[in-house]
Amino acid sequence: MRIARSRSELNLDRSGTVGFVPTMGAFHEGHLSLMRKSKSECRTTVVSLFVNPTQFGKGEDYTRYPRNEQADAEMAERAGTDVLYIPTVSEIYDSSSTTVHVGGVSDLWEGEMRPGHFDGVATVVAKLFQIVRPDVAYFGLKDYQQCRVIDRMVYDLFFPLRLSLEETVREPDGLAMSSRNAYLSAEERAVAPLLYKNLQELSKKVEQGDDIDVARESSISSLTMSGFQVQYLAVVDAQTLEPISKLNGSARALLAARLGSTRLIDNIAIRGPTT
Ligand code: AMP
Repeated sequence: MRIARSRSELNLDRSGTVGFVPTMGAFHEGHLSLMRKSKSECRTTVVSLFVNPTQFGKGEDYTRYPRNEQADAEMAERAGTDVLYIPTVSEIYDSSSTTVHVGGVSDLWEGEMRPGHFDGVATVVAKLFQIVRPDVAYFGLKDYQQCRVIDRMVYDLFFPLRLSLEETVREPDGLAMSSRNAYLSAEERAVAPLLYKNLQELSKKVEQGDDIDVARESSISSLTMSGFQVQYLAVVDAQTLEPISKLNGSARALLAARLGSTRLIDNIAIRGPTT
């Protein structure tokens, strides 16, 4: 594996397909599974490691976001990465005055809780797509709304690539793997799996035909009683992310909650009557 610290060092072999996995580092199985998928499908696998300042709001965890370049490099290499691209903030943003805003899907849920977050994500991903020029880009469904935002951006801006969206990798107790799980105390870590448990129950109830709002309220109170501060728990159309009150096509439940000082997100598929 090569490490490239600038665009000019990337110097990719373009004789075969290029797979690309954008990340912010602090690798876990979720990241590694994306790298392995790329490795299995593409000639060259490029992983970017860039803690993107523009997607963090004021008071968020940009400065304390976990960083461990050496351990990350070792894990990426073992997962089959060919080139690890670690740009500096100035290489990506120096004298840059362009922002990419994806209308609609960016403005709901995470977009509402974290104003500007998806502009930061879309802008950095657009820049990285231009730099790496991948044939396939791999993203995790753990960040479901992010997947919808990138999907829309690729469509609207005619990026000549295919997106591959991969299932969430979970701990054995169901907690979605996340670099931010490292912030949880031992007590918080013990209750954190309730997030996914509640999502599973909600999904099952809605698929069985229960009233969506009643099922949502019941999950919210159960999570609140367990010590979570629920920021949103929404049942939405899987494409537009608009809330639904009746299940027609495929849907998704999206959840964000605080546990102590840690903010966690998760989501689950809800199959519609015809899906
Ligand atoms: P991040 O480093 O958090 O920006 O994540 C980089 C990529 O890994 C994104 O496409 C995430 O959606 C994906 N990812 C993060 N956690 C998981 C997980 N538990 N399972 C699958 N993909 C994940």
